[in-house]
Amino acid sequence: MPNRTALVTGASRGIGRACALALGAAGFRVAAAARSLDKLEDVAEAIRAAGGEAFCVEMDLASPESIKAACARAAAEGGRVEVLVNNAGITRDGLALRMKPGDWSAVVETNLTGAFLAIQQVLSGMMRERWGRIINITSVVGLAGNAGQANYCASKAGLIGLTKSLAQELASRNITVNAVAPGFIETDMTAVLAEDIKQRMLGAIPLKRFGKPEEVAAAVRFLASDEAGYITGHVLSVNGGMYM
Ligand code: NAP
Repeated sequence: MPNRTALVTGASRGIGRACALALGAAGFRVAAAARSLDKLEDVAEAIRAAGGEAFCVEMDLASPESIKAACARAAAEGGRVEVLVNNAGITRDGLALRMKPGDWSAVVETNLTGAFLAIQQVLSGMMRERWGRIINITSVVGLAGNAGQANYCASKAGLIGLTKSLAQELASRNITVNAVAPGFIETDMTAVLAEDIKQRMLGAIPLKRFGKPEEVAAAVRFLASDEAGYITGHVLSVNGGMYM
C-alpha cells in the first residue's frame, strides 16, 4: 500500500467523489477538497468505513487565496501531497455571441486557472520528493469542441496544453502529468441536460450507454499508481468510443 497523500478537488460529488473513494481503497491518504464541507465529510467517512484514511479540506477554486490555504492544509495534515487530481469543474453554457464576460471568466478561472494554481502549490513538495502524479480531468469536448460551450471547451483544451507542457517540464523530477478525458458520465453536471440532448448523445456513443463516475475513477487510480510511472503527457479518453 502506498504511504502517499492524494489531493482530489471537487471530491464532494460525482467523478471527484468516485476518485476519492477509489484512491482511498488503493491505499492513498485522501485529502478531499471542495466548497461543501458537509458532503466532503460524508466522502471521508465512507473512505474511513472501508478501512482507508481521509480528511477534508475546504477549497474554492475561484479564489487563489483559498487554493493556497487549502493546499497548505492538505500538505500539513497529509505530510505532503504526492498526487493531485484536478477534477473540480463548472459549466456556464451559452452561444458565444451572447456569452457574458462573467460566464467566460468564471469557467476559465475555475477549471483552468484554478487547476494551474493548485499545481503550483503542490509542486515544490513533489520536486523535493522526486515523485509526483498530476492528473487533470479534461473532457471529450476539450478534444472535439462543442457548440454552446466555447468557455468550457477552451478551459478543457487549455488543461490538455497545460498537461503536455508540464509533462515535459517535470519529467526530470520523476513527476508525471496526465489528463483523463471523460465522455458523457452520469453525474449532477449531466443530469440537468434535456432528454432530447441525452438521446442524441447516446446515439453518438458506440458502447450505447453513458459512463459511470467509477469508470473515470479507475483510470485516475491507474495513472496515480507506481505501475503508470512510464506514462506522461497522455490524454486518456474514458468515453465509450464517443470520440477517437
Ligand atoms: P459535478 O457533479 O457537477 O461536480 C463538480 C465538483 O466540482 C463538485 O464536487 C463541486 O464541489 C466542485 N466544484 C465546483 N466549483 C468549485 C469551486 N469553485 N471550488 C471547488 N470545487 C468546486 O461534476 P462532475 O460531472 O463530477 O465533473 C467532474 C469533472 O469532470 C469536471 O471537471 C467536469 O468538467 C469533468 N467532466 C465531466 C463529464 C460528465 O459527463 N459528467 C464529462 C467530461 C468531463 P462543491 O460544489 O462542493 O464545491
